[in-house]
Amino acid sequence: MNDEPDISRRGIMLVLSSPSGAGKTTLTRNLLEQENIDSPGKLALSVSATTRTKRPSEIDGVHYFFKTNKQFETMRDHGELLEWAEVHGNYYGTPREPVEAALAEGRDILFDIDWQGTQQLRDKMPDDVITIFVLPPSAPELKSRLVRRAEDSNDVIAQRLRNAAEEFRHWNEYDYILVNRDLDKSFARLRAILTAERLKRVKMPNLNDFVDKLLNELKGLTP
Ligand code: 5GP
Repeated sequence: MNDEPDISRRGIMLVLSSPSGAGKTTLTRNLLEQENIDSPGKLALSVSATTRTKRPSEIDGVHYFFKTNKQFETMRDHGELLEWAEVHGNYYGTPREPVEAALAEGRDILFDIDWQGTQQLRDKMPDDVITIFVLPPSAPELKSRLVRRAEDSNDVIAQRLRNAAEEFRHWNEYDYILVNRDLDKSFARLRAILTAERLKRVKMPNLNDFVDKLLNELKGLTP
């Protein structure tokens, strides 16, 4: 049952960042699945473009839009990207059009992007962006998660561990921090953040109409 008042709203841009291996991708996937059950269509994932090689488990157009360097540079130079950055030696960027369409339709959008992209989104859309940084419980745990995933070569894993330090340094630019010791707990916290952000008064531009209606109903009930 939908117990929410019918109030038009502007969508939230929920950004998750973390070093590779902190558990952000699992949290993102779980959040999308759960939201899709609870409120279908309310939360969409921003599918990024990237020049990195596709992992065996990934599907083009679902996990990423896989591009050549030339294709990516054309998108970037034509203003088709809302933000972009070089991460671990590859380009990554957020296609602009789906984000603008989702926001206009009042849908929330989830981003799995790095600190550089987060800075750009925050500069461009400060009123819409909510940022969360996911930290691993320890460095050895970060490494073992990268190794367990077994989708990247040893060289790639080593590079990602080296780059983690740079990513960590930006934790204090984020609104919320999740230390991901326990996936279930982190997931509950992530949902709590989204729920609270959705209830913010500024996210309900037409609340006046709803309250006016309440006032009218009240008038009808008062002797
Ligand atoms: P991976 O190669 O493991 O999928 O992602 C590597 C890093 O790139 C992650 O930290 C991820 O958040 C980041 N990333 C993915 N898509 C984008 C994007 O569109 N823009 C930016 N700036 N970073 C991204």
